[in-house]
Amino acid sequence: MKICFATNNKKKIEEVKAAVGEGIEIVSLQEIGCHEELPETGDTLEHNAFQKANYVKDHFGVDCFADDTGLEVDALQGAPGVYSGRYAGEPRSDERNIDLLLKNLEHSSDRSARFKTVIALLIGDEKFKFEGIAEGEIMTERIGNAGFGYDPVFTPKGFSKTFAELTMDEKNQISHRGKAVRALIQFLNQRKF
Ligand code: IMP
Repeated sequence: MKICFATNNKKKIEEVKAAVGEGIEIVSLQEIGCHEELPETGDTLEHNAFQKANYVKDHFGVDCFADDTGLEVDALQGAPGVYSGRYAGEPRSDERNIDLLLKNLEHSSDRSARFKTVIALLIGDEKFKFEGIAEGEIMTERIGNAGFGYDPVFTPKGFSKTFAELTMDEKNQISHRGKAVRALIQFLNQRKF
């Protein structure tokens, strides 16, 4: 089956393509001719994931899924959460987001945090939701060059390396998005769409 992953993030597409097996072809927004920024104006991950997926379904008529991810930091009462992409304002910048996060945690000994991903799937006339969580902690400085977003400052629980020090496969096995995508794939395989 062919399904569009409604994201403009090339790294996410790569991660998901690496996670799906044979039989499911992931196509990007570019490949369906969608070049615009998708709307995400809600204040929950679920709202934004469905908003993006609905936009693609309504405008391009294809089965699709969209994800929304947030980083919840306990010492910051769950911030940046659903606003993780725009934490340091517009235009979006991973570098400035990380700088602000490290600054806001400068005097905090509690570094616990988690990534949460919600995937919204629209297939035929039905809609479904999948979730994945990765627990971990925020470093005091950047370590590693792989990945994207907050990866250089997030060390997953039970590991001594940040996400940015792991290979894509290693990250996929334990990451929020990897878990949510595996739930999605298991569902698609079971339903034999
Ligand atoms: P999005 O809304 O899912 O695109 O993600 C919101 C923010 O979280 C963006 O700043 C991303 O860079 C960041 N983010 C999403 N997934 C990851 C990840 O796997 N690692 C690090 N940062 C991520």
